[in-house]
Amino acid sequence: MNNQLARLKEQIEKRLDTVKDPVSGKGLMSAGRIAGLNIGDDGKVSFTIEAPAGIASEYAHARDKGEAAVHEIEGVSAVLAVLTTHDAKLASAAGIGRVKHVVAVASAKGGVGKSTVAVNLACAFASLGMKTGLLDLDVYGPSAPTLLGLQGKKPSQGQGKSLLPLEAYNLKTMSIGYLVDPGSPMIWRGAMATSAVRQMIDEVMWGDLDVLLLDLPPGTGDVQLTLVQRVPLAGAIIVSTPQEMALADVRRGISMFDKTHAPILGVIENMAYYETPDGHRVHIFGEGGARRTADQAGVPFLGEIPIDVALRESADAGAPLSATQPDHPISRRFREIAEAALANITRLAKPAPSIKVI
Ligand code: ADP
Repeated sequence: MNNQLARLKEQIEKRLDTVKDPVSGKGLMSAGRIAGLNIGDDGKVSFTIEAPAGIASEYAHARDKGEAAVHEIEGVSAVLAVLTTHDAKLASAAGIGRVKHVVAVASAKGGVGKSTVAVNLACAFASLGMKTGLLDLDVYGPSAPTLLGLQGKKPSQGQGKSLLPLEAYNLKTMSIGYLVDPGSPMIWRGAMATSAVRQMIDEVMWGDLDVLLLDLPPGTGDVQLTLVQRVPLAGAIIVSTPQEMALADVRRGISMFDKTHAPILGVIENMAYYETPDGHRVHIFGEGGARRTADQAGVPFLGEIPIDVALRESADAGAPLSATQPDHPISRRFREIAEAALANITRLAKPAPSIKVI
């Protein structure tokens, strides 16, 4: 370790010790809560706060303070603090401590069918026998309540201030749409949206899940980045239509998820073509744009979903095709995509940041 790095490490540790451990009242460092402190050559710092089992959510504030404190240090360009518990088995059912894989579903633009794909993909994971959750993080235009036929339903209160997720089609689900009256205008200021999102991640009793899909708001900017930095992601899936897929959009997506250390599990091309009753494929939005772009950007291509009336009708009816008509060719397609995405989670798993300095 060179001198500069050693000095930076010392400064970071000192600064982290100014943040109080909620349990012992000591500094986070002295309380032994910090693990895996990693300093990249480019000034990117990441570390883990190990919270005692069962009370991880009480550490969310300490994590934010720790992040902010380290960020102030000169030479630090970015900070990512991840909250974990010592023993995942003993961890509280609130929060995502017992979720095996958190996967974000993103798109560069709205209207490409991201939410439709996310819901059907979630049902596909469930039909593969995985315990699956769907967290609708599109605070500006939540669609999970409609897509799952749960409009007007409210989550019930669990222990303490925790919330129980709603359940439909073998999925656990949470959305801002369940927490806010559908009639009230969805105008969120950044801070409010962030705290609502935090509540949906930290205070919902997700319990044991194999996969939790996050349906992100459209776009790959700072708003989305802030949301996904709250959780350790196993990977991200990008949804696009053929013609909207500019290489620049995918690159933006890739660079956003790079900052979260999450691999791109692949690109899904939605509305890829329309198949006429006589089996002729019409490429309404152009052909193969997403596959080409994925190839050029060096990320996997997961598959195509055609424009389909049954898919649209089932979405409008709140009865996802993948769950209600599992033998439909498009439901099969979603299962293949889910399997490919799962394989990529294992294949592309990035090793935990190398522990350079502890
Ligand atoms: P986004 O989440 O990207 O804004 P949505 O999932 O809300 O997009 O989809 C926009 C509209 O397009 C919805 O009415 C949806 O039912 C429809 N849609 C999405 N994908 C398809 C598809 N493959 N075939 C037919 N309609 C689709």
